[in-house]
Amino acid sequence: MQPQATDFPIAIIGAGFGGIGMAIRLKQAGIHSFTMFERAGEIGGTWRDNVYPGAACDVPSHVYSFSFEQNPGWSRGFAESGEIQDYLLRCVEKHGLREHLRLDTAIVDARFDEATGRWTLTTSRDETFSARVVISAVGGLVDPAYPDIKGLQTFQGELFHTARWDRSCDLAGKRVGVIGTGASAVQVVPSIAPEVGRLTVFQRTAAWVMPKRDRRISERTKRLFARFPFVQRLVRWGLFALSEAMGPMVILDAPRLKRLPERASLRHLEKCVRDPELRRKLTPHFQFGCKRILISDDYWPAFERPNVELVTEPIAEIRADGIETKDGAFHPLDALVLATGFALGLATAPFPVTGRGGRSLAETWKRGAVAYKGVTVSGFPNWFMLMGPNTGPGHTSVLVYTESQIGYALQAIRKLMGEGLRFVDVRQPVQDRYNAGLQRRMKYTSWASGCNSWYLDPDGGNHALFPGFASEYCLRIRRFEPREYEIAR
Ligand code: NAP
Repeated sequence: MQPQATDFPIAIIGAGFGGIGMAIRLKQAGIHSFTMFERAGEIGGTWRDNVYPGAACDVPSHVYSFSFEQNPGWSRGFAESGEIQDYLLRCVEKHGLREHLRLDTAIVDARFDEATGRWTLTTSRDETFSARVVISAVGGLVDPAYPDIKGLQTFQGELFHTARWDRSCDLAGKRVGVIGTGASAVQVVPSIAPEVGRLTVFQRTAAWVMPKRDRRISERTKRLFARFPFVQRLVRWGLFALSEAMGPMVILDAPRLKRLPERASLRHLEKCVRDPELRRKLTPHFQFGCKRILISDDYWPAFERPNVELVTEPIAEIRADGIETKDGAFHPLDALVLATGFALGLATAPFPVTGRGGRSLAETWKRGAVAYKGVTVSGFPNWFMLMGPNTGPGHTSVLVYTESQIGYALQAIRKLMGEGLRFVDVRQPVQDRYNAGLQRRMKYTSWASGCNSWYLDPDGGNHALFPGFASEYCLRIRRFEPREYEIAR
């Protein structure tokens, strides 16, 4: 028999895709004794924060949504940020999650007490919360990374990061600079190009871009999905299977395997850009898949516009009114957009976390974040992470991994509740063996083939991605095995 709800408080930290998915699954399992802590004033995570023009999913929406909460109404193959945020808001309302939510409440400290098997969480409001289980769903790509470029602080025009877009700022007719050419930049550049006076894109590394082939979804198809959910499920699995089939081309350090997608990308470039010099500058010089592959139909064509300029000369300095590049050229700007990515949260503890025997998570992770199957960390009992270390995909939807982690955590919670256990703590040798296996395979991935990316730690280690198929990951995590855990009654 399960204990009364009040006997088993569960804390979910973060109300983005991970936290919301966990909360829905808990409710569906009949467990209502959870509280969701969200540091911002609204739910949504990535999709609340990334509202820059053009912000959209670059994974098809039918796969980038919960399998247990399909949305037959997606308006496009790749939904825009606002539509994804609306979907998450609907999930929250439909499953009655509001009453569990504590908005504007950051967790600033977490401490485990072995004797009681409880975590004490301290909030930014200086309250404490006692939890039997903590689900850390804080996300990885959250806090903007501001580039360390001389003079950045001296810029006098409008200055903002893509993940902190200032909607009140009108860029129409202005001279705008964009630093960065990653997944955020390829969306923002073509979206603002038609309205700004002049757009200067500062590129450090040219990226592989694949056609997006985004389409509106017809009303008829939406009705079909609404009436026959299994049809949408089939589409979902078809899209997933396709991404898995492409997996080796992205994941493996196998130049011959890359020829096909590299040729497809170069053909796309040829179609989009007529000027050979411009094409040369936009041609990437690293192995396909080493950095995140970009998906866009309108990024490369944007450079054909007369008001858009690509600057490949390195930046020397940012001045009050523009950017000087190393060749001595000066690019006057009224506004500067930093599309420079995120300070990687996966590699560090999100706040002080103290486990058994006073062990600190930051200290445990000082040589890189490691966990068992990306979910549990030895010495930190009853602490389950979603989108934790080495669980990112390079080729498919992250939610496939997240749903598996949710299922795994749920099994552990059921065991803890059902058997009245004090805690479960993954055994160190089990965790070490798992990670040694991952790191052995990491050498053979394209991520280790010599380019620089947010996937890598400063010392070159990869604690971000899973070096295999998503289906392999899902199979490996499908069952919570008590023998792999130290169990305290
Ligand atoms: P990113 O991929 O890390 O790209 C950052 C860009 O800024 C790179 O082009 C980088 O150049 C450049 N940069 C950084 N510091 C610089 C400096 N000091 N000087 C000059 N250039 C500098 O960041 P992102 O585009 O925000 O994407 C991050 C991740 O977020 C993606 O990989 C993806 O996982 C996710 N994302 C997803 C979507 C989606 O549609 N689902 C959309 C946006 C983002 P280098 O390449 O030379 O390092």
